[in-house]
Amino acid sequence: MNELDDISLDDTDFSPDQLERIAGHVRGILDALGLDLTDPNLAETDRRVARMYAEMFHGLKEGTRPQVTTFPNEEKYKAMVMEKEIPFYSMCAHHLVPFYGHAHIAYIPNDRILGLSKFARILEFYARRPQLQERLTEQVVEFLNHELRPQGAMVVVEARHLCVEMRGVKKAGAVTVTSAIRGSFYKKEIREEFLDLLGRRAAL
Ligand code: ZN
Repeated sequence: MNELDDISLDDTDFSPDQLERIAGHVRGILDALGLDLTDPNLAETDRRVARMYAEMFHGLKEGTRPQVTTFPNEEKYKAMVMEKEIPFYSMCAHHLVPFYGHAHIAYIPNDRILGLSKFARILEFYARRPQLQERLTEQVVEFLNHELRPQGAMVVVEARHLCVEMRGVKKAGAVTVTSAIRGSFYKKEIREEFLDLLGRRAAL
């Protein structure tokens, strides 16, 4: 496993001006709701929300792509590599409330491989922005496909959406599943191997 952390999570905060603007709009919402902004519990809420958004939407500040290093496939490994049950948290672009769950990411290498810790990095990069689950799934598989030029890649995301559970039809516990595929994973037997690895309980 490669432990080089080539995405820093600390040096890309939003500018003070951006934070101030976000806080001002949050204050406007609280005010429009008729809340008493002198209530001690609300006094700092605008700034807290602004700082929280800066952290949750970090993926917007890091540039357009995750900065990850790939390595030559010197072992000529040609079988499936899978990271499963990778947790993530994101924000629904339609409602600005969280959706969260797990992703399962697999690829079959060609000439380049990825450090194992980087699957989670890539997922987090695309999760930390106002997002759609379908787009998150596609962006992760497309990044792998573009960076590694693998034989194939597949991403499955399983998530709960608070915009579904807290409002409207209120389907508590409903899980939305999305998948995205490239290359050899279009073959049924490769997808079956993916599902077999996914279903296997780790004896660790
Ligand atoms: Zn939503």
